[in-house]
Amino acid sequence: MPDSQGTVDVHQIVNAIPAVAWSARLDGSADFFNQHYLDYAGLSAEQALGWGWTAAVHPDDLAGLVATWQALMASGQAGEAEARLRRADGDYRWFLFRASPLRDEEGKIVKWYGINTDIEDRKRADLQLAGEKHLLEMIASGAPLREVLNATCKFVESVTAGCQCAIYPIDWSGPSFTCGVAPSLPASYTDPIEGMPHGLRAVWSTPICSRERRLVLGTFCIYHGKPATPSQPQQELIAHVTHIASIAIERWQAEAALRRSETLLEEGQRLSQTGSLSWWTDTDELLFSEELHRIFELDPRGAVTLQGFLARVHPEDVLLVSGKMQLARDGRGDLDNYQFRLMMPGGKVKYVRVVAHSIRHPSGRVERLGAIQDVTAGRLADDALDRARSELGHVTRVMSLGTMTASIAHEVNQPLSGIITNASTCLRMLAAETPDLEGARETARRTIRDGTRAAEVITRLRALFTKKASTTEPVDLNEATREVVALTSSELLRNRTLLRLELADGLPPIMGDRVQLQQVIMNLLRNASEAMVGIDDRPRQAVIKTGQESGDLVTLTVRDAGAGLECGIDKLFEAFHTTKVDGMGIGLSLSRSIVERHQGRLWAAPNDGPGVTFALSLPYRTPTSKMSSTSTGTPSGRLSTP
Ligand code: ADP
Repeated sequence: MPDSQGTVDVHQIVNAIPAVAWSARLDGSADFFNQHYLDYAGLSAEQALGWGWTAAVHPDDLAGLVATWQALMASGQAGEAEARLRRADGDYRWFLFRASPLRDEEGKIVKWYGINTDIEDRKRADLQLAGEKHLLEMIASGAPLREVLNATCKFVESVTAGCQCAIYPIDWSGPSFTCGVAPSLPASYTDPIEGMPHGLRAVWSTPICSRERRLVLGTFCIYHGKPATPSQPQQELIAHVTHIASIAIERWQAEAALRRSETLLEEGQRLSQTGSLSWWTDTDELLFSEELHRIFELDPRGAVTLQGFLARVHPEDVLLVSGKMQLARDGRGDLDNYQFRLMMPGGKVKYVRVVAHSIRHPSGRVERLGAIQDVTAGRLADDALDRARSELGHVTRVMSLGTMTASIAHEVNQPLSGIITNASTCLRMLAAETPDLEGARETARRTIRDGTRAAEVITRLRALFTKKASTTEPVDLNEATREVVALTSSELLRNRTLLRLELADGLPPIMGDRVQLQQVIMNLLRNASEAMVGIDDRPRQAVIKTGQESGDLVTLTVRDAGAGLECGIDKLFEAFHTTKVDGMGIGLSLSRSIVERHQGRLWAAPNDGPGVTFALSLPYRTPTSKMSSTSTGTPSGRLSTP
């Protein structure tokens, strides 16, 4: 024990040093505090002595501190512990409590003494560091944004006494703040703009800026129950956490953008039924996108092997595909774009189109990237279209045959009734008292002529619809024209068309298919007649004129006084161009192809006056070998309209 003289001096000294010092008895109760301790805690010596000092220890730290203190006393060893001590103004600060035993000459402990050091700054820095580390770990491990922001608020609240925090990320694509996080504020408190509800008196808001500081990502708010301004250390803390929050928000935004672009890609692949693949040409490692798994009908969970891939290729296309792959392995066939077939285990066949190219990586390895599109639907549609196209010709012929039959019946009816009339006349002439033999003979001749004409018309028209080879024979265009006129006479009559024939004498015969050429003439004549329907201020006059031109050409023109052309001349000859309600628009295109097959030309020109003239010219010394060998004599809808 120090002597009484020394005690005074030591106490004075101890009281004077700017440190928190104390001493205690063997049972742990305090028997001395220096003035600095008492001033800090705002306690009188009477209040602090014994166990009174524990009142200034932070309630959360007291149990731990007392336990350490008792363990020290039991061991008789010097030691230390950390705890918060309340300052006179009520704020707590962290202290390191250091205690040492004081022993007598025999080594027996007679007293304990100690010094408490203010470690608030270090403790705060440690806590801050640990907290920030924890937050960064959360971000790195991909914790949801809400959780990270929540933890950020909790962290600030844990190191800054008496505050509540909130973070409001801003969604610039939307109207305002979204998914605000305020873990310690009442649930009803959602709108930071509303003011200071719930007894809060102060708010300190700090913008959370993007890394390039171009964009405000949100705000960080600290609320206090009393008017307050953040201290310097608090402002530093805020700067740290807003930075961490910006990392979290930016990462979340980047991930959202990535997810979105992944979704877009997937959706695009699904919609276009296109999958992508990567193939390392040296190791045959294959990577299929989800859609490609679907196209190949492979389990998306399993790895794709080259064998598995080739097993799906249609046996007949394996050579093609492996050939292309070999080219790629050899570093050739840079850009591929071809189709092949797949065959599923059930035998279903799919058509796919592949586009691929190679990438040489810096390591020298070659990766082939490709897109494979399922084009089965399109391919099947194309096949169907091809079939439909080839059937169309036949269908048109058959359809026309039906209407044509009606037309023939109509046309043949005329000569038939003529025959009957003639035959009756003939009988009457013979039955007269003095039979008119000459008259009867003439009537019988007319009967025969009419009968022959009707029979010929039917024979020739029937030839139109059989696929037998077209006949090439000398055709007298004048004669052919007369027959057509006879065949269409009832229609001309019905349309009140006046027809004048100006057929040239001594016209040389041309070599060709009589029926086909008659079809052309009939079409031109009917068009002329129809073009004049509705013309009442002038005669509905049509003129068919034949003639001969230099260059060994025979010509035939059909001139009308109709309404004229409604469109350009080239358009007339296009298939399916029609201006008529019941027209099919194939008459002229067919006529032109017939004429051209005869090495001739068919054209049209507007008249000086009203109407149009259609003209055809045919060489009359055409070598027969150039003629088309089969009849494609599909009659137009025009021909068939009675
Ligand atoms: P369609 O008679 O079935 O319409 P075409 O190929 O024979 O088919 O004729 C095509 C079109 O050409 C007609 O719809 C008509 O507009 C026009 N055309 C043909 N001949 C004449 C003509 N003599 N005068 C005016 N327009 C004509």
